Amino acid sequence: SIEMKGLHKRFGNDAVALNGVDLTIRAGEFFTLLGPSGCGKTTLLRILAGLEEADDGTLIIGGKDVTEEPPHRRSVNTVFQSYALFPHLSVRENLAFGLKMRGVGAQEREAKVAEVANLIQLGELVDRRIDQLSGGQRQRIALARALVCEPDVLLLDEPLSALDAGLRSQLQVELLRVQKRLGMTFVFVTHDQQEAMVMSDRIAVLNDGNIQQIGSPREIYETPINVFVARFMGHDN
Ligand code: ATP
Repeated sequence: SIEMKGLHKRFGNDAVALNGVDLTIRAGEFFTLLGPSGCGKTTLLRILAGLEEADDGTLIIGGKDVTEEPPHRRSVNTVFQSYALFPHLSVRENLAFGLKMRGVGAQEREAKVAEVANLIQLGELVDRRIDQLSGGQRQRIALARALVCEPDVLLLDEPLSALDAGLRSQLQVELLRVQKRLGMTFVFVTHDQQEAMVMSDRIAVLNDGNIQQIGSPREIYETPINVFVARFMGHDN
């Protein structure tokens, strides 16, 4: 599980990004951080990843206090909105890169890449160069690359937001299938209520650096705790 206690983060003097976040995410759940632009979703994800340091509070992942640990000492991996792939390398080389960095030998690299390529059903894409792929294909490769290192937790920052509606719902299904199959913990960031509703086991609704409500999609939709959540979930008074 992931336990966050009293996480605070401010940028400069006035921008409070997180205003005391307490949240427990269970192992194996598809958990979504949902809220409008600027509510602090990305900041929270970056603190989980170790890419940003909280001003105050503690973070425990899998029973280990990682508040002070650098990114590579945490069993988390991130899929970003921009894919951050190497354009001139093949898909296979992109997938193997992170494994190589972790000192995994050539034979094992090949086996792991083949396994993930099979899981994400990449087919003949594995031998193409990244700059020969469409946006949707690149997004699938970014997901495959994050999965190949087998993290306990996968952090996903609006991974589908750049895609058209058809591809988006196709990848929603694929993400869910992979997450359930691997039993991995997914922490998913979106500002899209409908996407949160169809994907999540549980949702935390954020506004202005504060968690407004935590619950199942049904609880959040049917029994919003305040006016903000009600409006955000599409209930017009
Ligand atoms: P979006 O959906 O637009 O990405 P978000 O919910 O992910 O928004 P954050 O990116 O976490 O929101 O930002 C939360 C607040 O912190 C905002 O007010 C933002 O302007 C501020 N902020 C975030 N990063 C920085 C930074 N590096 N420097 C200064 N202010 C920042």
